[in-house]
Amino acid sequence: LELEFEQLQQNLPGWVRASQPCSAHGRVAAYIPELSKAPGEALGIHLIDAQGRTLTAGDSSLSFTMQSISKVFTLILALIDNGEKKVFSKVGMEPTGDNFNSMLKLELVRPGIPFNPLINAGAIAVSSIIGGDSPDEKSSRVLQFFRKLAHNDSLDYDYEVYRSESDTANLNRSMGYLLKDNGVLEGDVDDVLDVYFKHCSINATCADLSRMALVLAFNGTDPITGENLIPRRYVQIAKTFMTTCGMYNASGEFAIQVGLPAKSGVSGGILSMVPGRYGIGVIGPALNAKGNSIAGVQLLETMSQQMDWSLF
Ligand code: GLU
Repeated sequence: LELEFEQLQQNLPGWVRASQPCSAHGRVAAYIPELSKAPGEALGIHLIDAQGRTLTAGDSSLSFTMQSISKVFTLILALIDNGEKKVFSKVGMEPTGDNFNSMLKLELVRPGIPFNPLINAGAIAVSSIIGGDSPDEKSSRVLQFFRKLAHNDSLDYDYEVYRSESDTANLNRSMGYLLKDNGVLEGDVDDVLDVYFKHCSINATCADLSRMALVLAFNGTDPITGENLIPRRYVQIAKTFMTTCGMYNASGEFAIQVGLPAKSGVSGGILSMVPGRYGIGVIGPALNAKGNSIAGVQLLETMSQQMDWSLF
């Protein structure tokens, strides 16, 4: 492990430099207008191990909204609040092969439950069962949970991105109403969507993502503080979804090329991990055609192949 850390330390800057140019072939997301302001050429990474040793390279200080990456942790919070049975009465366990914002299959499966909790429809259904008496209380429980996992009390919303998404979210709103009509979504649709938009707009850096990933890499216990933050079973569920559905409908390709649990978001962030070893946060706002950070995926491919990290 010592040798591995040294090898990483030596090679990481070069791997980032080699991966960064492919960002020119990607595009920053613009359907949430505020996201289009991100620097498309940026690429950064932060990695942390169980002793708290860190490695960073590239534009690792950039902050960005978590977007879909947040869905992993709202799923976990919903599992803690409700248990498996309830959660899986609201969402399925299967990848869709469709886009993250697709409504195509909402009418096809069991009385209209979304295929999985990492697509928008599934995450909106999950948001509806997060514990709390009001939307504000639910949102603040989510934020507190994220702060604890990231070991960062200053984690907060990017209100510009939040408003920008909320103002333009016709598709997500229509999903919310369809889910309500299907009897899946609990509570008021607009309240639920507000909780959803807020957790998508939590601002983070690669360091935050890496620390949250580290907790998953160690089965729910933060190895640096020794604190147990998530029951192991729920980490297992989350990591399985990350592997099968975490990289949109490029999850199969990512499993073959990288072979690590990961979750990406439209802001260009990727949270990944080497189980039992490292938490990893990556940012590269330019996306490929499937919606994943183009340079970020390239970097993780290089690292995994050079370090022989694939779990498979
Ligand atoms: N807030 C974004 C949306 O609902 C999240 C999408 C994503 O990162 O995949 O469109």
